[in-house]
Amino acid sequence: MKHLFYSFFLIGSILILISPHKSYSQDDKSNGKSEFIEYQNKTIPLEIAEATKEALSYFPELEDVSIDFVYREKIKGAVMQAQPYLFSLFVNGKNNRKYKIKVTRQLEFAEGFYPIEDVPYDALVGWIGHELGHVMDYLNRSSANMMHFGAKYFLSDKKVVEAELTADGYAIGCGMGHQILANKNYILNNENFEDDYKDKIKNLYMSPDQILTLQKVLDEELTRQN
Ligand SMILES: [Zn+2]
Repeated sequence: MKHLFYSFFLIGSILILISPHKSYSQDDKSNGKSEFIEYQNKTIPLEIAEATKEALSYFPELEDVSIDFVYREKIKGAVMQAQPYLFSLFVNGKNNRKYKIKVTRQLEFAEGFYPIEDVPYDALVGWIGHELGHVMDYLNRSSANMMHFGAKYFLSDKKVVEAELTADGYAIGCGMGHQILANKNYILNNENFEDDYKDKIKNLYMSPDQILTLQKVLDEELTRQN
């Protein structure tokens, strides 16, 4: 019984994690019709296609992995968010699991709405790279582990720190240190982001100093190997 309750709790948590938000409809008047491109088993909105392809070029392991990049009007506490599709956790084996990366269509700045594609290029590529780092992390988890992970992510700051450091670590390890740094600096030095969000980035994510240190260690390691 206790086990059953626990299972329901986990599934409930993952449902919250994966629950659909209202997306921009195809003919949303303020944005025009969203167009997507198909690329290496990915669906990518046209506006961020170039930045997304660039980020993907650092992750050859993700070449065949199915990922939909989908616009959302708003994502709670985040600008982008990588998740497995819930059905895919149950139906597909680990190797065929399907993922989506939710992307806020427009940032809500004091002076008005700011389309995601207007974020400085390197910072945008870094943002997408961070989310691809999450997908790399998910690839190594079983479906059961993914559900525990989903539940724990919401219950413990420690798990969030672990997951976020892992995502940045993958991206930096794949050679995206420069873009990950550009992204952190863009967020932390931007008056338009709320203090709550900046504090979250400061407290739970890799700091610019840590990124530089990790990048340096990796560079030294590469030089040593060559
Ligand atoms: Zn993240």
